[in-house]
Amino acid sequence: MALIVQKFGGTSVGTVERIQQVAEKVKKFRENGDDIVVVVSAMSGETNRLIELAKQASDEQPVPRELDVMLSTGEQVTIALLTMALIRRGVPAVSYTGNQVRILTDSAHNKARILQIDDQKLRADLKAGRVVVVAGFQGVDEHGNITTLGRGGSDTTGVALAAALKADECQIYTDVDGVYTTDPRVVPQAQRLEKITFEEMLEMASLGSKVLQIRSVEFAGKYNVPLRVLHSFKEGPGTLITLDEEESMEQPIISGIAFNRDEAKLTIRGVPDIPGVAFKILGPVSAANIEVDMIVQNVAHDNTTDFTFTVHRNDYQAAQQVLEDTARELGAREVIGDIKIAKVSIVGVGMRSHAGVASRMFEALAKENINIQMISTSEIKVSVVIEEKYLELAVRALHTAFELDAPARQGD
Ligand code: ADP
Ligand code: ASP
Ligand code: MG
Repeated sequence: MALIVQKFGGTSVGTVERIQQVAEKVKKFRENGDDIVVVVSAMSGETNRLIELAKQASDEQPVPRELDVMLSTGEQVTIALLTMALIRRGVPAVSYTGNQVRILTDSAHNKARILQIDDQKLRADLKAGRVVVVAGFQGVDEHGNITTLGRGGSDTTGVALAAALKADECQIYTDVDGVYTTDPRVVPQAQRLEKITFEEMLEMASLGSKVLQIRSVEFAGKYNVPLRVLHSFKEGPGTLITLDEEESMEQPIISGIAFNRDEAKLTIRGVPDIPGVAFKILGPVSAANIEVDMIVQNVAHDNTTDFTFTVHRNDYQAAQQVLEDTARELGAREVIGDIKIAKVSIVGVGMRSHAGVASRMFEALAKENINIQMISTSEIKVSVVIEEKYLELAVRALHTAFELDAPARQGD
């Protein structure tokens, strides 16, 4: 008998019919004798709908605390519906909000971090033979304020519960049957991976693959939670996220391609090329609480240089303002910006033992006439910034160049 935490995402609980199907699935696991804790997301589209409502009621940005009070309702609806569907099937079950479990978080509204989980109530319910259904994406801070964990945060609730309960496995059920070499919505030839290492999955998630929230992967790695991504309604082994690097080494050099359109680029031109200038430019940006991702400083010419960096698109305007002030102070020539950029990254632990991976990437992009604006590398990834309109072309070209395409099926 195993203890399994099962998380069902938004599309999997998007209608009452689907919730009935989820209940059927949970029932089967119970009949096998497993103890089950279920974590659910809000119905698909619900969190977006609530955010829209909040914007309509607010002047600019909704007050973060109040936004959390509202967003947490999405998951509160689905835990109750699923629990009703289970009870209807004769499966004893009980639902809890994050607050009721006591999923304690810090007070960073809209992006809170889980600090501690009280497992007493859950263990008592499991012992009494009940399925426990917990609201994903939400917690409570030490003052009793409702918090949420950032978009996609139900994954993190699932993994954190699995860690707290020392579950045998955390299963993330979604609308794809595993982690693919890249987003199958963009590249139909993408292939499901049998396994991917935590390290690679962490890179994939942080570079834009939203199949798992990055914090859930961090948690799973830190507490060694066996984690699997599976399709909610189709049978199959899914993808195991594993510590084991040995076998992955035999896989292709590149495990996957991630991309995102969430960044914007800013350039300050004609800044004096003197010590401390990078700090003078980025110091005020970080003081404004804006995270910087990629950075490029050009070779100086006439004792001045150009300095380019990327930020999240949501921070673009704020960063631009900060930079305009800095430009005046430093006597820089101008500030220019571009939000129509995208970042494409290739990821794989195999890169450690292979040379020439980056140049192969650049060659594939050159063949498609795609200009590279910025580059950054780490031990297991290479990222480039390109014009947004070439994103899909770039991902497809790289997928083919690194031999990740699934063999063509008959009739294709
Ligand atoms: P859920 O609502 O179940 O949490 P998400 O929409 O958050 O589902 O995540 C699943 C989606 O992630 C898929 O439908 C797919 O389009 C997208 N995705 C992006 N990159 C990948 C990848 N490498 N492998 C699988 N799915 C991916
Ligand atoms: N409902 C939340 C969201 O849409 C959390 C989640 O689905 O994981 O981001
Ligand atoms: Mg998700």
